[in-house]
Amino acid sequence: MNRSSSGEVWHYFDSFVGQLYYPALMSNQLPKRVNYIALAKSGTKIQVKVPVAQFTRFSELLVNTQGWVEVNVQFGRDSAGFHTLTGELSAEVSLICQRCLNSMSTQIRAPVRLALLPSEGLATRVAESFDIEIAETGVIDLHEMLENELILFVPIAPMHEEECELPIEGAQPVEVSMEDSEEFSNKPNPFVKLASLKQKLSKKE
Ligand SMILES: [Zn+2]
Repeated sequence: MNRSSSGEVWHYFDSFVGQLYYPALMSNQLPKRVNYIALAKSGTKIQVKVPVAQFTRFSELLVNTQGWVEVNVQFGRDSAGFHTLTGELSAEVSLICQRCLNSMSTQIRAPVRLALLPSEGLATRVAESFDIEIAETGVIDLHEMLENELILFVPIAPMHEEECELPIEGAQPVEVSMEDSEEFSNKPNPFVKLASLKQKLSKKE
């Protein structure tokens, strides 16, 4: 176990067998340029926690940028010898419930099963269970590639599992913070009832 300068724990698999070629893999971020051929040769595994905020396109789909994306992937080859990147990404994030329009916490799990090919012509020879990524030079942007996978698994219409109610007609989606609820309770306001309902719901999360 090691600690990065920011105090967050990161570590690699106990069964780590590969060589680490890139210093960037050792911090809380994913490198933009890695040579997948070299990493596959050594069977490099990457287990790292990356702040959600570092994935800007992914963050735009969320209520806030809090939390971490746990990256758990390995470079290797499939049975036909093609280079692969496999594993899983997971993150606990906040989305807007499409029924009550309050924020809700949800777990995103994105399986990663990519074949990394030097040319499109090889794609038909790869097992169908892999998604294809073309990287002619052998260099990939690991950060961008994994962010694409994360985005694919953001639910389109997330809803609370427990019962929640449609917002009052005409009400706008409101993010409830302590400030908001204080403001609501300090002066008579037709939305007071809504605010207390929102508080109740958010406590249930
Ligand atoms: Zn809801």
